[in-house]
Amino acid sequence: MDVEEFRVRGKEMVDYICAYLATMKSKRVTPNLDPGFLQKLLPSEAPQEPEEWDDIMEDVDTKIMPGVTHWQHPHFHAYFPSGNSFPSILGDMLSDAIGCIGFSWAASPSCTELETIVMNWFGKAIDLPSDFISSNPGSKGGGVIQGSASECVLVSMLSARNEAIKHLKSKNPDIEDSAFLPKLVAYCSKESHSCVEKTAMILLVKLRILEPDENCSLRGKTLLKAMQEDEEQGLLPFFVSTTLGSTACCAFDNLKEIGPICKSKPCVWLHVDGAYAGNAFICPELKPLMAGIEYADSFNTNPNKWLLVNFDCSCLWVRDKIKLTSALVVDPLYLQHSKANESIDYRHWGIPLSRRFRSLKLWFVMRKYGLSGLQQYIRNHIRLAKYFESLVLKDKRFEVVNDVKLGLVCFRLVGPDSINQTLLATINASGKLHMIPSMVKGKYIIRFCVVSEFANETHIEYAWKIISNFATRLIGTLPK
Ligand code: PLP
Repeated sequence: MDVEEFRVRGKEMVDYICAYLATMKSKRVTPNLDPGFLQKLLPSEAPQEPEEWDDIMEDVDTKIMPGVTHWQHPHFHAYFPSGNSFPSILGDMLSDAIGCIGFSWAASPSCTELETIVMNWFGKAIDLPSDFISSNPGSKGGGVIQGSASECVLVSMLSARNEAIKHLKSKNPDIEDSAFLPKLVAYCSKESHSCVEKTAMILLVKLRILEPDENCSLRGKTLLKAMQEDEEQGLLPFFVSTTLGSTACCAFDNLKEIGPICKSKPCVWLHVDGAYAGNAFICPELKPLMAGIEYADSFNTNPNKWLLVNFDCSCLWVRDKIKLTSALVVDPLYLQHSKANESIDYRHWGIPLSRRFRSLKLWFVMRKYGLSGLQQYIRNHIRLAKYFESLVLKDKRFEVVNDVKLGLVCFRLVGPDSINQTLLATINASGKLHMIPSMVKGKYIIRFCVVSEFANETHIEYAWKIISNFATRLIGTLPK
């Protein structure tokens, strides 16, 4: 494809995307297909000779698109939002065209510097502690864009592990680093995302998964008791992963209680995972939900969830960048450059060497919407979630199980888990709506998340009508 063909095909692709997004609402939210459907439709070998673009797009239209789940569909209410907006798509297009691999400042200066600038913009917009903003006087910290919240948790725990080993080694300099691993213990709540457990598996450290309180919030006294028990066993508490806006029910751990406990210990790193909810802190009225953030050593949130930025864009800030990079620096000659002392090399801030120009899409979104537009988007989702909650609460057959603070409502039919499983399975099979389940306070619940950028009352009323009609039908089939 030469530049002239790209010009034509690129414009056609924009038209195709616009038509897809505009007509999606008339389709099922999820495809009704069996595994292996695509293998039956596509050849088992790559083509030996070049093919016509029109033929490729014909296959996209007739074979690929029918198997797509429409995450941007107005009736998709599963998981958390998958960020998407036109400015973000354009940012990624430009990033793909530039095609740089910005592992160091020298590898693409604008790629590095724009990342630092937008991370400072965003950090200030959500009012992170001053130490996290690299441009603030005296700050030792800063922000970096990672590929996922899981990576943010991984590099945070890795840094904490490095600090803890240094601490133990200062007293026993002759012992091998790996010999300290069995002494280390990390903590999180049962409500934490499974990526914390995966991280502990990767890093070969113990993880204590603690019971939250009746509001699914991890409390200080639970953490303190666990730490004291472990210290009595000769273990070293070194990392606590807390969550603001848990995956199952959008609960908030109590940082005001947990923070001082972490700070009272010789070597505990406090991480705060706000993968979804963290974005909402751009709204001043929601800042009480991040009370205690001043104790954090690191914080992450995903604009690719709830800030209209396409995947991947997961923002991590650390209070002390040296603690992060000292766990990750390796410096072969072929990656060194003459400006390293005056610049940032983001290759030292994460696992992969290669990095995309991800800050472009975040920068495009922040500029095109402005903070006021992004606040309006967040507030609209919260307003609609509360509206959905009010519809559920009016129907005595149902109960709402979470405290609806943001865009997620956890609800269920009053009764056994089994009828809720059947209700959700039949709704999802209809393709009219898509939601996922979760366990909250020991009960099977249905999660309803406001997801679409353009969500409005009509979508909420449609969803409620579908849910209540299916419930009526289901209840009608139950033995009296
Ligand atoms: N943390 C929380 C609170 C989440 O809700 C999720 C995913 O939904 C994750 C972490 C994992 O996110 P990622 O897919 O970016 O690794």
